[in-house]
Amino acid sequence: MADDRIFRLKIISPDRLFYEGDITMVELKTSEGEIGIYKGHIPLTTILVPGIVRITEPNEVKLAALYSGFVEILKDKVTILAEVAEWPYEIDVNRAMEAKIRAERRINNSDNEVDEIRAEMALRRALTRIELGGK
Ligand code: ATP
Repeated sequence: MADDRIFRLKIISPDRLFYEGDITMVELKTSEGEIGIYKGHIPLTTILVPGIVRITEPNEVKLAALYSGFVEILKDKVTILAEVAEWPYEIDVNRAMEAKIRAERRINNSDNEVDEIRAEMALRRALTRIELGGK
């Protein structure tokens, strides 16, 4: 029997079609907080912030790391355009730990706001990679 909770999710990064599949729920981090999207969600376009996306397929849950981008929500289709998207097995945790140390040093030594914001974004990417890569 057809599952009427199913909708289409597409995740596109600049270098590949990262994911395309039929799912029942997707949870992600946006500039307005964490949201869970089911079929029939009100149409919305929102901004993605670095974090872990949780994709619930009918028989499996998949986790991935997504960094800045946009999310377009339609009634039966969600499209995510992400600047960087990574599966857990693609993440080099040691590299992320080094990036975390560099970002923290930049935050502590920064003398201007722009550099501080950039360093905070780099820190968020590193923390997301450490969290997901360790799974
Ligand atoms: P780094 O300072 O280590 O390069 P970054 O946060 O500046 O980290 P990004 O700009 O987010 O890196 O990503 C640049 C490219 O490097 C992307 O293709 C991304 O997938 C890859 N990348 C960055 N860090 C890692 C990592 N820890 N493991 C695997 N790939 C990574």
